[in-house]
Amino acid sequence: MGLSPETTVAELRELQELTGDENGAQRVAWTETWERARAWLREKVAPTGAEEEIDEAGNQWFTLPGESERALLLGGHIDSVPNGGWLDGCLNVLAAVEVLRRLAEEGAPPLTVRLVNWADEEGARFGRSLFGSSAAAGSMADQDELRERRDAEGIALPDALAEHGVDLDRALGARRELEGAAAYLELHIEQGPVLESLDLPLGVVLGTFGVERHLVTFRGQAAHAGSTPMDQRRDALAGAARLELELPEIARRVGGGAVCTMGGVVTKPGIVTSVVETAECLLDQRHLDATQLAELLSNAEAASRRFAQEEDIDVDWDKIWSIEPIPFDELLIGLADEAVREISGTSHQLPSGPLHDAAEVARAGIPTVMLFVQSLRGLSHTKLEDTKEEHLELAVRALDRLTTKTLQAFA
Ligand SMILES: [Zn+2]
Repeated sequence: MGLSPETTVAELRELQELTGDENGAQRVAWTETWERARAWLREKVAPTGAEEEIDEAGNQWFTLPGESERALLLGGHIDSVPNGGWLDGCLNVLAAVEVLRRLAEEGAPPLTVRLVNWADEEGARFGRSLFGSSAAAGSMADQDELRERRDAEGIALPDALAEHGVDLDRALGARRELEGAAAYLELHIEQGPVLESLDLPLGVVLGTFGVERHLVTFRGQAAHAGSTPMDQRRDALAGAARLELELPEIARRVGGGAVCTMGGVVTKPGIVTSVVETAECLLDQRHLDATQLAELLSNAEAASRRFAQEEDIDVDWDKIWSIEPIPFDELLIGLADEAVREISGTSHQLPSGPLHDAAEVARAGIPTVMLFVQSLRGLSHTKLEDTKEEHLELAVRALDRLTTKTLQAFA
């Protein structure tokens, strides 16, 4: 029999048929549709003999015993955003099911192999992404805040979880699942345009971007639009505008794939008859390298102060949120590169802009790597999300090849 990547494509369509509608995938975590998808997955895995277990955070595990108790983990998430695509998250899970079938056919692998379907990667209902993987990684520290979260209907998060057998206060018990984990592999659609623009089906992910998010507030003086001469204005928007135009220059100077985005500017008083008194800018900066990320930030700060001085206004910086870059494992990146080259001829290494469950696992100290498969038009989190079938099949083959290499290297 051997590996059957066509089966993965057929099962992806079957899942979409079962849990999607004309607007796209509807497998939002902690809903009846999501539960139906998990039951369907259980039936798909059953013939391999892998044993199922649901941990304290609601993650669904399937364990195929090997010669050693140390485990190679293959992960993904079957939950989707509302009106989501047919591939995000579930491609990873179903490709891993096919790898599990191939392994089960061949007898006990050198390491135990475990498939994990992470609970609530998307955070679509309660706005908290990476729920299950952060619990397993032990990095979840916002239980107090989560207790207060409600969905659009006013249902509290702990109540919704309880309906699916998960007690928020005990979620961190999922940590024991990562004990004895030797390595973690995850395949995902790219959700961006890079591989398509290079005309490559597959890529190897170097890690996930670190992020610095700040509120930058410029303060000038409101003054009458008619009576205030141009050379006597203290215009806060001038500072914001000059900073925005400087960002591409800063990103270019720092290099290494840096990205900076001013995602919003709110001006006050915000009327046509007044010079702007305050301009509040939302700034998002990302880089795979911590030093270069710090450089992006200090460059933007310095530029904002220079513009403030030149415009005779003030500027303040407040941090909204930040996360360190999470680099993946060098040995696994090398193996993934080999696997991709053997399957598709050429490999390409790229960082991941979005966070993934793999970042949480890597943060917990488990050697981790991800494979990306090309996304058409770079679209995701929409029913328009798509990847060529031939590329999906190559992706299943690459994950399978990488699994074999990892089992050999870590046995
Ligand atoms: Zn995803």
